Amino acid sequence: MAVMNIKNCYCAFCKTKRRVSQKKHINLRDVFYCFVLSILLMFLIWQDFNPRVAVLFALIVGMCGYFAQLRWRLQMACPQCGFDPIIYLREPKKAVRMVKEHLGRWENSPKKWFLPNPNKNLYHRKPSELSAEEKQLRPVNAKSPEVDKILLSEPDNLASP
Ligand SMILES: [Zn+2]
Repeated sequence: MAVMNIKNCYCAFCKTKRRVSQKKHINLRDVFYCFVLSILLMFLIWQDFNPRVAVLFALIVGMCGYFAQLRWRLQMACPQCGFDPIIYLREPKKAVRMVKEHLGRWENSPKKWFLPNPNKNLYHRKPSELSAEEKQLRPVNAKSPEVDKILLSEPDNLASP
């Protein structure tokens, strides 16, 4: 619908290169699209101008906002290792548990050999070993230098609760 605002970054835990959309909320352009859509739907449903279009418009805007936020939230967790930076900022131990569960699930899966290995970048990729280009990329959703320090620490330090 609108410009996605895709950003290159890497997973703060397994260092897998990722592309995430930074669009968390709908903007004025999306609201305009919702308005046009509700006008079109109004003529489709009632074949004339109808004041109920205001309710329809509010419903469509609400749904768009909800799905924009839902999409943003669902893509935050790394599909490779299961690390969720948002849960990590609130409950680090829960995030560690989730990563361990994700890695365990991969380890015990009979389809293991057909799935990407989540351990691929773990344990042998230290921040000092990252390429200049990778150093330019920021960890997902890191906001403060303090958080950066935690997220850029060694994966081993992160995994021990
Ligand atoms: Zn990851």
